Amino acid sequence: MCAGATNSVMLISVHGDPLIPLGSIQAGGQNVYVREVAQALDETGWRVDVFTHHANPSQPAESRLGQRSRVVRLCAGRPRFTPKQELFPLLPRFRDQVIEWAAMRSRVYTAIHSNYWLSGWVGMQLKRHWGIPQFHTFHSLGKIRAASVIAQGLSMNTRFQIEQDIITTCDKVLATNPVEQELLNKHYQVPDGKIRVVLCGVNRQVFYPRNRLETRQALGLVSIRPIMFVGRFEFNKGLTVLLEAMARLLKHRQHLGKSVQLLVAGGQIPDQCIEPREQRELKRLVGVLGLDRHVKFLGPLSHPELARYFAAAEVTVVPSYYETFGLVALEAIACGSPVIASDVGGLSYTVSDGETGLLVPPGDIEALERALACVLENSVLLNHMRMRASQGLSSSFTWPEIARQLGEMYRFANLEEEASAYESGSALVACQ
Ligand code: UDP
Repeated sequence: MCAGATNSVMLISVHGDPLIPLGSIQAGGQNVYVREVAQALDETGWRVDVFTHHANPSQPAESRLGQRSRVVRLCAGRPRFTPKQELFPLLPRFRDQVIEWAAMRSRVYTAIHSNYWLSGWVGMQLKRHWGIPQFHTFHSLGKIRAASVIAQGLSMNTRFQIEQDIITTCDKVLATNPVEQELLNKHYQVPDGKIRVVLCGVNRQVFYPRNRLETRQALGLVSIRPIMFVGRFEFNKGLTVLLEAMARLLKHRQHLGKSVQLLVAGGQIPDQCIEPREQRELKRLVGVLGLDRHVKFLGPLSHPELARYFAAAEVTVVPSYYETFGLVALEAIACGSPVIASDVGGLSYTVSDGETGLLVPPGDIEALERALACVLENSVLLNHMRMRASQGLSSSFTWPEIARQLGEMYRFANLEEEASAYESGSALVACQ
């Protein structure tokens, strides 16, 4: 394949299908990122092919995503849900299926944009095969994750090695915020020249402030002060820390017990499948802590549904041990909800301490209890943070702006690659 294809990009997201419902263990921020980036690029005239693993046989092999773009689902020999930790051996087959799919349709791409280290491996192979630029977004950095949570059943050494190879091979590593850039510098020795910061965004047509009391009324939450948690049910998200903090708060401040309720969105609908272990354990912990009356599991919610809950909330809590970006915090602020978040990763960047929310050390139950008490008992502070959150986020956090930056970068790198290929004469060989 020769360089020079215009306005056609391949997004690789092996474990993150952009069109599946969100909230379950393997469907979160990366799926949203890939969907929103693909749609926003499509709206500016790009043709985007998103390649993902065909994890659910009831879904078609291809789905449209915008006017000229699509999601292509490849089974890589296993047409069923496969946990991330088991996907690595399927990647050579996945790569071959991408090449076959593109060859059958004579597809020529301007660039490859890979997401997460598994897709980064596929991207490296395709870059070598086609001689086109590769951009990579990590979404999660193995070394940081290993330091902050117990890695479960995952061969971290393989991941570390591949992450390092991706950094060496790809044209640019895309950091989603300046904190991630620093971590890439420090832990992976990525020079600044190789990193480009392109933020994550929020869809302002969905996530915007609404009248809080009216929204509460519409949601049947009139007599309660809702605290929101939204996320996948994995240990790293820190929901157990929040439950422990809630139990302490209600023990030490019994007057709050009458009105405060934690609303938890995410997880899987139990009657459609066997309830996952993490989900059962969380519900058990609620009972053990005596929180049955104070915690309600809402199940997975769509973005339009979540936007109303964020707007109705007193506060949204993001108690993660580690978060590369943390879309939930941004979405909540966009709806005018103050956010109490762990002072880690992208959360330290998106939440402004004392302004749009409060930052607490990750895993610190007592600090989280204090932050909750502070927000719930100090109406001056709460109103100030609400006002700051409702004032609106900078336009850099919008998907059209992000797509504009990405599009320019793909095109520019392709021109450079083309020029150097012609200088070395290799383009002629590649095009034959
Ligand atoms: N999400 C959702 N419904 C749910 C739970 C989560 O739509 O029931 C979305 C949430 O709104 C956000 C994404 O899943 O857009 C989670 O992204 P985040 O970056 O916060 O966490 P990640 O999943 O990347 O760890």
